[in-house]
Amino acid sequence: MYDIIIIGAGPAGMTAAIYARRAARSVLVLEAVNYGGQILNTPDIENYPAEAHISGYDFSAKLYEQAKGLGAEFIFEKAVGIENGNGKKTVVTVKNSYEAKAVILATGSASRKLGLEDEEKLVGKGVSYCATCDGNFYRKKVVAVVGGGNTALEDALYLSDLAEKVYLIHRRDSFRGEEANVSRLAARDNVEFIYNSNVTKLISDKRLRAVEVTNKIDGSVRTVELNGLFVAVGRIPENRNFADLVRLDDAGYVQAGEDCHTSCDGIFVAGDNRTKTLRQLVTAAADGAMAATEAVKYISNN
Ligand code: NAP
Repeated sequence: MYDIIIIGAGPAGMTAAIYARRAARSVLVLEAVNYGGQILNTPDIENYPAEAHISGYDFSAKLYEQAKGLGAEFIFEKAVGIENGNGKKTVVTVKNSYEAKAVILATGSASRKLGLEDEEKLVGKGVSYCATCDGNFYRKKVVAVVGGGNTALEDALYLSDLAEKVYLIHRRDSFRGEEANVSRLAARDNVEFIYNSNVTKLISDKRLRAVEVTNKIDGSVRTVELNGLFVAVGRIPENRNFADLVRLDDAGYVQAGEDCHTSCDGIFVAGDNRTKTLRQLVTAAADGAMAATEAVKYISNN
C-alpha cells in the first residue's frame, strides 16, 4: 500500500509528489496521458516566479525529473474510480488497482474547444485558451476573444490593455458574465462587441490570420483579420470519475477551500479541478504543496 496516490501528473500533482516525498511518504502518481498537463500547450511561460522564460515542455520535464529524483513512482494508466473503505482508498485504473492511505485528485480541467477545423494545429500559432499566459505575445496586435462568461470578459479586459484592438465575439445578444465588466469593456475605445455570432472558420497560412464570423440572426458572414484568437467558452473539469465520492459544484469542480480538503475524508484536491478563482501554474503548484501537506497530516493522525 502506498501512503499517497496522486491522480494527475500536471504541475499540481507533481508538486504534491515533491512535497509528499520530502515528508518521506511513499507516492504513486497515476497519469492518463503524459506528464505536464495543460502547461505543455504553452510555448513560453513568462509568469512563473524566477523563470523569466521557459517552455511548457521544459518546465514539465524539470518538474517530472525533480519528483522522480525524490523517489515518486509514476505509472501511466488512466484512473477511472476510487473505492473508499476499510481504512484505505483503492484507486481503480483501466488496467489495475492500487491502494493508498490518502488520495490527491489533481486531474485538472480541459479548455472547451470550438471544434473548428485546424483549431488544434493552430494552438501556439494564433489560437490560445489562456489570455494571461499568451496575451503578452499580442502587444499592439489585433485579437479576438470568443465567449460570454466572466473568463471571456476578463480576458478581453486584460487583452485590451495590451493589444491594439480586441473583438469580443459572443453567440448571444447579452453576456453571461458580470455587468460591471461589460460596462468597463464598453467604455474602452479599442474593444468591439460582435453579438449573436459564432466563429465558423479559422483562416491561416502558417499562423492564424483571420476568422470567419457568422451572424446567427441574419446568416451574414464577415471576415475579421486578426493575429490572435482567445477561446474562452468554458472549461471541462476532469472529475466525472470521482463524482460519487467527492462533492462537486454545479460546474463540476471539486468543492474545497484553500486547504484542499474534499467532502471525503482522506481525499484531497489540487489544481484546476478545484473550485477557485485563479487557475494558473503558480496556483496549481501552491495547491499541490497544500494538498500533500494536508494528506501527510491526515495519515499521521489516522
Ligand atoms: P462560463 O461561465 O461557462 O461561460 C462560457 C461562455 O462561453 C458562455 O457565454 C457560453 O455562451 C459560451 N460558450 C460555450 N460554449 C460555446 C461554444 N461552443 N461556442 C461559442 N460560445 C460558447 O465559463 P467561464 O467564463 O470560463 O467561467 C467559468 C466559471 O468561472 C463561471 O462560474 C465564472 O463566473 C467563473 N469565473 C469567475 C471569475 C472571477 O470570479 N473573477 C473569473 C472567471 C471565471 P452562453 O452564455 O450562450 O451559454
